[in-house]
Amino acid sequence: MLARAVRGTRDILPDEIPSWLYLEARARDFFPRYGFREIRTPVLEEMALFLRSLGQTSDVVEKQMFVVEKGDDQLVLRPEGTAGVARAYVEHRLDLNDPIQRYFYIGPMFRGERPQRGRLRQFHQLGVEIFGSDDPIVDVETILVMVRFLEGVGLKGYTLRINSVGCREDKERLSVHLREVLASRKRELCEDCQRRFDRNVLRVLDCKNPACRRVVEESVDFGEVLCPGCRDHFQQVKSGLEGLGIIYQEDRFLVRGLDYYLRTVFELSHPALGAGQDTVSAGGRYDGLIEEISEGKLSVPGIGFAIGLERLLLAMEGGLPKEGKGIEVAVIYSPGGEVPALKLAAELRESGRSVLVSPSARSFRSQMRWANRVGANWVLILGDEELEKREVAVKDMSRGHQIRVGLDKVKEVVGESS
Ligand code: ATP
Ligand code: MG
Repeated sequence: MLARAVRGTRDILPDEIPSWLYLEARARDFFPRYGFREIRTPVLEEMALFLRSLGQTSDVVEKQMFVVEKGDDQLVLRPEGTAGVARAYVEHRLDLNDPIQRYFYIGPMFRGERPQRGRLRQFHQLGVEIFGSDDPIVDVETILVMVRFLEGVGLKGYTLRINSVGCREDKERLSVHLREVLASRKRELCEDCQRRFDRNVLRVLDCKNPACRRVVEESVDFGEVLCPGCRDHFQQVKSGLEGLGIIYQEDRFLVRGLDYYLRTVFELSHPALGAGQDTVSAGGRYDGLIEEISEGKLSVPGIGFAIGLERLLLAMEGGLPKEGKGIEVAVIYSPGGEVPALKLAAELRESGRSVLVSPSARSFRSQMRWANRVGANWVLILGDEELEKREVAVKDMSRGHQIRVGLDKVKEVVGESS
């Protein structure tokens, strides 16, 4: 059917725009106070960027990329924001002034997933990245800004979970351990996990299938997963969070879907979203990403998170502003009054009013009905007599009274808006 949006995409209709504008305005006010600056990178990126950074065996790369081929170019519609921001950091050598850089972005992302509530093929993320420090205090601050932002816009009743997946060596050691203990029970795992077993066994840990979860709980020993350095790093992250009064759950099963994560990972979920897609916001540390993208030229650690805005809106259902600024003034007129009406409306708009001019010089009765429908507080009436005397009848819709003033005085009357 022609008149239907592509599966997994949706129109944001005017009634929903106030919520979106509210979130965007809050972000643009909030993040700069923590020193984050907005960055906007292209929707189109080289496919190779994501193969290198997200990992060949991540779900996103294996199954979810929207590929755009144009001549010899293999491009994709970006599935996430971090890789593009990291690419821009390397490409423009944004490290040269000060390697520590803080960015945020807001924009559409694309993944070829099976659409359902809270899972779309085009969705929006608000993301934050900090490059240049691997100090645990930066992890603490990153989690702090995420929680503060979400609470600030009114999100309540969420759960924050954190974990450390350790350094590359730790991840490798855990993978070996997982293959060892899961080998004999492989057949009990779901189809996805059987595939993951061979290609990316860490992902078996955060499979949501109860059978897989049981097998993992019964077999895996988390005792010595982290090396002393990573254990200490994680300990400092946790005590920092505690010092700030941020409530979290430690979850040894939390691993993130993308390969670039090392050490601290975290997710914030909300029960209103329903199992399977209850994560509102997720992130972690990606200390090897810049090195990967710069092909070894730059070695800069980083950490960040991304909030799924559609999911945030679902989780806050009802708690967001619905009303935008409505129409304040409607202008109606008798035949011949079209041009003076348009002129008057333009002048009022310049002084900040939102004004609609009646679409035609029908009877005053039907024009008044129209003015009511658009919700104007004031109706300006340019009848034959008013036009002749260069006056306007001004009707105050909330109080019902009407006065007549000179054209040049209208601004003052509707200026003291109700
Ligand atoms: P999930 O486990 O739900 O698939 P993910 O690990 O793929 O999430 P990330 O890549 O970490 O998600 O993206 C960060 C956030 O972006 C998610 O927590 C979610 O809020 C949002 N998000 C991710 N994929 C989608 C999607 N297909 N539709 C809507 N929002 C999404
Ligand atoms: Mg996903």
